[in-house]
Amino acid sequence: MKILVAVKRVVDYNVKVRIKSDGSDVDIDGVKMGINPFDENALEEALRLKEKGLASEIIAISLGSAANQDVLRHSLAMGADRAILLETDADLQPLAVAKLLKVMVEREKPELIMLGKQAIDDDAGQTGQMLAALLDYPQGTFASSIQKEANILTVTREVDGGTETLALTLPAVVTADLRLNEPRFVKLPNLMMARKKPIETIDVTTLVIAVAPRLQLIQVAEPPVRKAGIKVNSVEELLNKLRAHEGILV
Ligand code: AMP
Repeated sequence: MKILVAVKRVVDYNVKVRIKSDGSDVDIDGVKMGINPFDENALEEALRLKEKGLASEIIAISLGSAANQDVLRHSLAMGADRAILLETDADLQPLAVAKLLKVMVEREKPELIMLGKQAIDDDAGQTGQMLAALLDYPQGTFASSIQKEANILTVTREVDGGTETLALTLPAVVTADLRLNEPRFVKLPNLMMARKKPIETIDVTTLVIAVAPRLQLIQVAEPPVRKAGIKVNSVEELLNKLRAHEGILV
């Protein structure tokens, strides 16, 4: 089984993002970037399937500028067999990413396509679902566990009321939740070795897919600053304050 894993380059999850002074977007100038955390879970699960002898090849794919090579090197260091960069400086929204991934699925013919459940920059949570729809493949989103038997993938997924278990016939699309696994630590020698591995680069314009944004970002703003709380000395005092507060009946 060949597995294609989509890895996005996003602002590192430890960074407190700043907004550009004109409010047009988040300012990522000089900010630490890294692999989207859910995509690391997706890749880790693919590697574990391979280690169990259930997968033959893992291909990491990233879409974006040449800077995305760093997340592909990280993926190779984790254990991916191959890396592909679909290079573009265009602002790619989920539908464009899904259309481009579809082209690569048609070329590589993986039986499993793994993505993160959402990218922590746009928080869209749409690409996997759109890709499954475009390919007309079954989908298991927000996966917290995966089991493969013959041509069937059993996916347990996180839903509002608990978990749901689905049986998907391969080929299928799965999006990873954080609970799926704990990604392995990448050792320095593996990172050094990954620097020597080739990354296949494809210019997005050669794929002749319409990638122009369909949504327009109008403004980005900080949430209102939370007012400081106060301490009360007793439950009685708390109740009196609540009673006195307009609109609150206790
Ligand atoms: P989103 O729908 O934007 O929240 O992204 C969901 C998932 O789609 C991510 O976790 C990635 O696995 C994949 N994805 C989205 N954009 C890209 C990209 N530019 N390159 C690679 N994978 C992507």
